[in-house]
Formats: sequence, structure tokens, C-alpha cells
Amino acid sequence: MVDKIRDLKTIKRIIVHCSDTDLDSMDNIDEIRRIHTQEKHWSDIGYHYFIDKRGKVFAGRDIKKVGAHCAGHNFDSIGICFSGKKEFTDKQFQAALALINELMQKFKLGRWDVYPHNFYNKDKSCPNFLITKIWKFENGTVT
Ligand SMILES: [Zn+2]
Repeated sequence: MVDKIRDLKTIKRIIVHCSDTDLDSMDNIDEIRRIHTQEKHWSDIGYHYFIDKRGKVFAGRDIKKVGAHCAGHNFDSIGICFSGKKEFTDKQFQAALALINELMQKFKLGRWDVYPHNFYNKDKSCPNFLITKIWKFENGTVT
């Protein structure tokens, strides 16, 4: 399968997801990538970034390539996946805030351009937390 390369100017939004599992064995980008490539037969992991429970950010699919994370909205978005289903850590939110701030600056986006997956797909609960929770980590701790 040939990846679709895009002009970075097409990036207009950031879409936040969760991996939908709290299994320790799944708290790992390699495992998500294995499922997406070997079980779903995609060219690469569907997300552009993965944030594990320790708050470590991993690069997934190259942002120059269209992702596979949000039906109908992949072409102009960056997909960020939090590891987890119900259990998320403060370190993840802190890491996400730093990553999103960097991406917003790079792509001239604002907070209004950051969406939860379930904004586009009402049948899903993903990412299982309110997107506004990320902004509450602005000063390092939850306010
Ligand atoms: Zn999702």
C-alpha cells in the first residue's frame, strides 16, 4: 500500500484519541503499531503520536503522511493517541499539552482546532475524557 503524502499546509486540526485499553502489555507504541500493520494490514500505525502512561511521547506515522484515525478527517489532521481506556495519568496530560502547544505553534493552530475523536464520530466515546482536561495542566498540575 502506498502512503498518501500531504502538503503540511493542509494540516488544520489535531484529533485526540485513546487506545481503548488499560492493559500494561498495550501501553506500548510497538504493540499498537503491530496491530495496525499486522492485524489491520495498514501501511503503518494509524496515529501520528502516541503518549504512554509514563507521559513519554512517541512518534507514530510521519506527519507528512495522512493518518488512519478518524474517518473523513484524516487528510487535514494530526492524530494523537493517549494510552489507556479509563486510567490516564497526569504525566500524559502534561506531555500532551507540551506536544499540542508545539504543534499549534508549528501549524498556526489554536485550541479550537483541537478536537476529541467523538466530536466527529458520535458513536464513539474516544478519547474517554474531556479535551478541556488537557488545558488544565497549563501550570504543571491540575487546577
Ligand atoms: Zn479515537
